[in-house]
Amino acid sequence: MSGAVAIGVDVGGTKLVAATVAEDGTILERRRQSTPAGDGEQVLRTVLEIVEALDDAGELPVGVGIAAIVDPAGVVRYGPNIGVRDLPLAARLTAATGRRAVVKNDATAAAYGEARVGAGQGADHVVMLTLGTGVGGGVIVDGTVVEGREGFAGELGHVIVSDGGRLCPCGNRGCVEAYASGTAIGLLARERLVDREVESSLREDVQLDGKAVTSAAMAGDEFARSVLEEAGRWLGVAMASLANVLDPELIVVGGGAAIQAGAFMLPAARASMAERLIGRKHREAPRVVPATLSDDAGMIGAGLLAADS
Ligand SMILES: [Zn+2]
Repeated sequence: MSGAVAIGVDVGGTKLVAATVAEDGTILERRRQSTPAGDGEQVLRTVLEIVEALDDAGELPVGVGIAAIVDPAGVVRYGPNIGVRDLPLAARLTAATGRRAVVKNDATAAAYGEARVGAGQGADHVVMLTLGTGVGGGVIVDGTVVEGREGFAGELGHVIVSDGGRLCPCGNRGCVEAYASGTAIGLLARERLVDREVESSLREDVQLDGKAVTSAAMAGDEFARSVLEEAGRWLGVAMASLANVLDPELIVVGGGAAIQAGAFMLPAARASMAERLIGRKHREAPRVVPATLSDDAGMIGAGLLAADS
């Protein structure tokens, strides 16, 4: 299989995707199946099957990005959506196949993918924010992923932007996830629609979520646009804190619906961040750009992490 440098695997809450990946991030062969529910051993077995199917010669290293907290040794500590707990996935993969194996949090893997071959190509200092049901993230410093002592670093969705503010699913109040996730955008719209004076096509929408708000904004609904701009301003507050701590070259914003919502959110986020940057008169603000690898970022990033390890 010429050109492949690794196998990248992305284990999500519902689906498991894998591919052979080339040095430049090109996907050569791809497989996909549903994630077995509630059992680490079954997740391991499924990853092993898919790896053997993609590379029966058994030479390529394997990188896995998984929706879980993963410690620097590749032990999946806690993955509530997958039902995996304290599974030494990297060591078990190596023991079963003899391959080099790397396991990281999925958002961290996605950040590495974007930094290496996506929107951040060529940059050594990259922050990635992933907007979806929640807000995820990853940090690359000097070309290396930041994991922290036990793998809990990079939980950027829980940067607090308003002390005592909106309730976040994590139990804290005022996290940026409670303002800028798809779920939060839907809630924000619902709350503002209580005011009967507001005119919007969203009034008739029974399943008012982030996607519905984005679709309405794209169709020209001014109210929907203002909701996305408000979410974007909150996102910018978090970005300013991240930029003040890390001084990245760029902040990449990804996640399913974020690419379309970004047209309304990102200008507001850039302005809101710029107002809060330390030394703003004497520096260039980090560029805020949409991700380019779409849903493949985690899989590609995981593969390249294994290839580069
Ligand atoms: Zn939170």
